[in-house]
Amino acid sequence: MKANFTLITQNVDGLHDVAGSRNVIKLHGDIWTACCMQCGEEHIDRSQLDDLPPHCHCGGMLRPGVVWFGEELPEGAMEQAEKAVGAADVLIVAGTSAKVYPAAGLIPMAKVVIEINPEETRFSDRVTYSLRGTSAEVLPLLLANY
Ligand SMILES: [Zn+2]
Repeated sequence: MKANFTLITQNVDGLHDVAGSRNVIKLHGDIWTACCMQCGEEHIDRSQLDDLPPHCHCGGMLRPGVVWFGEELPEGAMEQAEKAVGAADVLIVAGTSAKVYPAAGLIPMAKVVIEINPEETRFSDRVTYSLRGTSAEVLPLLLANY
């Protein structure tokens, strides 16, 4: 049986896309997209920009498609993440300090949680397994036995 996998990230750098990850929920948006400040249309273009500042075909100025301080998350992103966590057999929490909400609020929603972190977090004593080490060290060991 093939396992379903959803990657929930707060990173905006697009490196999960470059690495070939699929089924990615980007809670804080994606720096490689731009949104029209006038009509709201999303533009995805990794080519070099010809004009600065870039503009939409409607004439509105484009801005990075990321969440800035005080802004709401992309529409539906948190709901998608909650649904994925609720349906998951296991939530692996890696590469995060688990301090930033609302993403950190996903951790208590999971049935089984494997935390991978070099240091203790506020969730370490509440998760199913808390493994000490970096993601680069621990994830390959976990996957080698999967
Ligand atoms: Zn526009």
